[in-house]
Amino acid sequence: MLKAQETVLEIDLKALKHNFEYLKSKLQPETKFLAVVKAFAYGSDAQKIAKYLQDLDVDYFAVAYANEGITLRKAGITKPILVLHTLAINFDVIIENCLEPNLYNAKILNEFIAFASSEKQNEYPVHIKFNTGLNRLGFWENDLEYVVSKVTATSVVKVKSLFSHLAASEDLNERDFTLNQINSFKAIAENFEAEIGYMPFLHMSNTSGILNYPEAHFDMVRSGIGLYGFGNSEKESAHLKPVASLKTVISQIHKIKKGESVGYNRAYKSDRLITKTATLPLGHADGISRIYGNGKGFVTINGQKASIIGNVCMDMIMVNITDIDCKEGDEVIVFDGNTITAETLADSANTISYELITSISQRVKRTFINY
Ligand SMILES: *Cc1c(COP(=O)(O)O)cnc(C)c1O
Repeated sequence: MLKAQETVLEIDLKALKHNFEYLKSKLQPETKFLAVVKAFAYGSDAQKIAKYLQDLDVDYFAVAYANEGITLRKAGITKPILVLHTLAINFDVIIENCLEPNLYNAKILNEFIAFASSEKQNEYPVHIKFNTGLNRLGFWENDLEYVVSKVTATSVVKVKSLFSHLAASEDLNERDFTLNQINSFKAIAENFEAEIGYMPFLHMSNTSGILNYPEAHFDMVRSGIGLYGFGNSEKESAHLKPVASLKTVISQIHKIKKGESVGYNRAYKSDRLITKTATLPLGHADGISRIYGNGKGFVTINGQKASIIGNVCMDMIMVNITDIDCKEGDEVIVFDGNTITAETLADSANTISYELITSISQRVKRTFINY
């Protein structure tokens, strides 16, 4: 493999395929698989990832916002795309691009029906979300009659699915709460079917729901983080392969005398006779937040850990290489699937893999291997 000569996010499509197949092996053969590719496919590359998954015959895609769905259509994605967070301002592009909106409250439901009607739509596919405990988006269970009355009064929309979202599927201490969510969702679905005369398909599980709650798979599952290689527990992550590796290079090495400082605000001061530092071409504008500075985060150089010293700058970080045999031009691993994973690095600053990987900014070049 080529050594990095600048900051690159290397995306391993074979790892993606492995994760997809592993997650699918947890499902009944007829259960559909929705790939969540919001936020640039969790910071990687939504177009390439979605194309690859479409070729592997994934059933559905989801994005958070309509403009992310447009990007997928431009890349030739023809499978259905669910827009998780529908906003009224985007109704026109939703219909123009055949995106399927999540309708989660009375306002958005009524406004969408009115808009689709003015666009002369018939049986436009929509998805109704119920809140079963996350208290983020969704109708409440007692809105059921209202939703039914609205969707049966028109042929402009057709309810393709009912869904909900688990609040703590990764936390087995919250098992009772999660089982409650699953049971409420079942009751909602049964009542809906009884009132409306047909059963839309049902979905509720994110990655941790797939792994921990087979009883919540229903007709489809929605996986994001698992596809990208993280399982929210050490045991599950061991079966998955991180898809993205962040690599960079040593731009310059300095020798800092005792009492001298490194970086802005002189946040690091050498307490050794000589501290050797390496300057790396990535900073908070690339997604390495300031929370990783001042000794919290670290990178790997020639197999050894080098901690980030001083404040993270916009375009650079400095790391301590006093005891590491390395030279300018050497490759640096920020995270990958073998040495330090994004989960480990995120953990060093008390955050989660989701946040670290989705933060890698668009300035960082994406490269692809094993396609
Ligand atoms: C982001 C998201 C998912 C994916 O969750 P993961 O934990 O990454 O698998 C599924 N459903 C909804 C509604 C989401 O917002």
